[in-house]
Amino acid sequence: MSETDKKISLEKNEEKEVISRNFIENEIDSDLKEGKYTTVHTRFPPEPNGYLHIGHAKSILLNYGLAKEYGGKFNLRFDDTNPTKEKTEFVESIKADVEWLGAEWEDRLFFASDYFNKMYEAAVFLIKKGKAFVCDLSADEIKEYRGTFETPGKNSPYRDRSIEENLKLFEEMKNGVYKDGEKVLRAKIDMASPNINMRDPVIYRVAHMYHHNTKDKWCIYPMYDFAHPIEDAIEGITHSICTLEFEDHRPLYDWVVKELEYTCPPRQIEFAKLYLTNVVTGKRYIKRLVEEGIVDGWDDPRLVSIAALRRRGFTPDSIKLFAKLCGVSKSNSSVDYAMLEYCIREDLKCKRSRIMAVLDPIRLIIDNYPEDKTEYFEVANNLENEDLGTREVAFSRELYIDREDFMIEPVKKYFRLYPGNEVRLMNAYFVKCTDYKTDASGKVTEVHCTYDPETRKGECATRKVKGTIHWVSIKHAVKAEVRLYENLIDEEKGVYNSDGSLNLNPDSRTILKDCYIEENIKGAKPYDSFQFVRQGYFCVDAKDSQDEELVFNRIVSLKSSFKPGR
Ligand code: ATP
Ligand code: MG
Repeated sequence: MSETDKKISLEKNEEKEVISRNFIENEIDSDLKEGKYTTVHTRFPPEPNGYLHIGHAKSILLNYGLAKEYGGKFNLRFDDTNPTKEKTEFVESIKADVEWLGAEWEDRLFFASDYFNKMYEAAVFLIKKGKAFVCDLSADEIKEYRGTFETPGKNSPYRDRSIEENLKLFEEMKNGVYKDGEKVLRAKIDMASPNINMRDPVIYRVAHMYHHNTKDKWCIYPMYDFAHPIEDAIEGITHSICTLEFEDHRPLYDWVVKELEYTCPPRQIEFAKLYLTNVVTGKRYIKRLVEEGIVDGWDDPRLVSIAALRRRGFTPDSIKLFAKLCGVSKSNSSVDYAMLEYCIREDLKCKRSRIMAVLDPIRLIIDNYPEDKTEYFEVANNLENEDLGTREVAFSRELYIDREDFMIEPVKKYFRLYPGNEVRLMNAYFVKCTDYKTDASGKVTEVHCTYDPETRKGECATRKVKGTIHWVSIKHAVKAEVRLYENLIDEEKGVYNSDGSLNLNPDSRTILKDCYIEENIKGAKPYDSFQFVRQGYFCVDAKDSQDEELVFNRIVSLKSSFKPGR
């Protein structure tokens, strides 16, 4: 084992220790020990108002992972209580993403909107208990009455309406008697509570809006803080895991399940959201990029939506590794995008074939090689994994090599091709550069060389070469388009400008139309991925590839390599 390998393996062990037991598992352990619950039932509750992103992936894997770990159950539930921004398109994409990550909900796919009747009944129950009232204050007035962190709120003048009047008014709200905003239903808790969420929060509002699931049936909709605990309780969720911003809402969550007298009520536990440095994660912001046409849709490979990551070539295993390495914490922090890159490299390293592709071609002509000859070299698909077998790679007189691998006047420590220098053509022969041609602008158009037949398979007992370059046989190569991606955000400047606009990197995508790949690539299917030797990992774009015309996304480059002139 090399020193580097040792270091990596040591780091991995440390990571294992850190992630061995997170605070949520500790909480669950004690709940089970104390007999508070006898099972573990979790859920992932997305609002279908956009595509899921890497942060959601973490939440999905956490919730599903806990259910698995404790032999419990996991539900997928659409939290579709707010009809304004929700769409069926998003429901479908979310299902596909959760499934792709391997989180199985079995027969437990639910919609919060299916519980609207029960939520309505729950509200009536609270009214009957004297724990909710219909309030006529406007939204602004409610805000004004609410008070501040320093000052207590004031009771609404409608707070002491009789139960009968409240029942009648609430029913009228439901029957469409009132306009949006004219009346709301509020929980009757405590206007002097130090927690503003407990100051008689609104739990139902009038909204004459079409709902993607219940259509025109309802014109009142429950507020999130009221609906969510009910959804959890109905489904028998034990541990309702959410992100940190709901910590201050927990007393209200507990109040709702207590006042509704659920037996074995669910318990809310918060953890920190996952943020990536210099990457746009928030659904709202991704939406803006999509709507402003800055990216080509929710699955643009530059985004970190799950659909985009999948299209770019990330694998479920790489995302799982990433979620694992991030761990679960109580304090907000950002993880570097490089860690996600590390995870995909780790995952693909031994699983994918390493093939040759030339992304910026120049012709290399071997003047002493017979014109019509083709020879085949047997090449291992992956030196680190024999199970991937071998393949035959065609070699002939005219090849493409990458422009980067030739310099007319080499810079210091440049060991690749330049006039007079000899290099190894990977797996093939030693070649020595004899000449080159340029166009009027001085751009190199072709390079000439001679090969040494004694160096077959790139082996030679008598002399060494310092450089090895990849190549493809022009006659056999498959032409393809390759898309290279860089960060969408200009890393030096940070994500946002002072006016809230995004600091975009103008070079976040480079399209190379004229790339050549060895013929073994024929038959590659959408989402298939490969290592292109010396360049990185690439995936067949599922959207833009045609049968004969492949388009590749660069998933990630190999670790940084020496670039001449930089
Ligand atoms: P966003 O903040 O991106 O708009 P959201 O919280 O509005 O997302 P929801 O559909 O409400 O999106 O979230 C579904 C679940 O995913 C919630 O339980 C939420 O806490 C969790 N979640 C959302 N963003 C993250 C994140 N960045 N890291 C971890 N979990 C997240
Ligand atoms: Mg949300």
